Amino acid sequence: MPADWVLALKPAILIIDMLKEFVYGRLKSPAALEIVPVIKTLVAKARERGIPVVYLADRHYAFDREIRIWGLHASHDSEESSLIDDLKPERGDIVLYKRSYSGFRDTGLSGLLRDLGVDTVILTGIHTHICVLHTAIDAFYERFNIIIVKDAVAAFSREDHDYALQYMERVLGAVLKEHREVLSILDQFSTN
Ligand code: ZN
Repeated sequence: MPADWVLALKPAILIIDMLKEFVYGRLKSPAALEIVPVIKTLVAKARERGIPVVYLADRHYAFDREIRIWGLHASHDSEESSLIDDLKPERGDIVLYKRSYSGFRDTGLSGLLRDLGVDTVILTGIHTHICVLHTAIDAFYERFNIIIVKDAVAAFSREDHDYALQYMERVLGAVLKEHREVLSILDQFSTN
């Protein structure tokens, strides 16, 4: 049974960069495939409980700053920039496109979440130490509570994954939870 403070929250679930490029492509994370079914379960539960589902997706142009570091990836005109078939948005879900690490940067996410009455973001997706971390940092500055689903985020290596989780917990005050715990929390929310 979750603590009362959890039930006072107004959460949204964010799915970060579950694109073909990062799950099957050049910048794939070895653990990406393992988190797909976990995220699928969380998204289904969120929809069932009327909790907003927001996809954040890299969609780059060749002149984007980040391309200097990683090379061209998730190019706007490529198949690799599409969301994977297993995590396709459904009616009522929201998709925002981004040109840098953070899901908040130049996407309108902050205003959108406030319009929805959201005060807490539940983060899932890839990579733990890059786009998940940067989205968490901006969530902190934008005054959102942060929950990271530990087994629904993945990175290139265990070290990258672990240090980012620890950083988000210690420095950003993020709450780290396993997906089963988050499922039972979401179950407590009324559907209206
Ligand atoms: Zn990128």
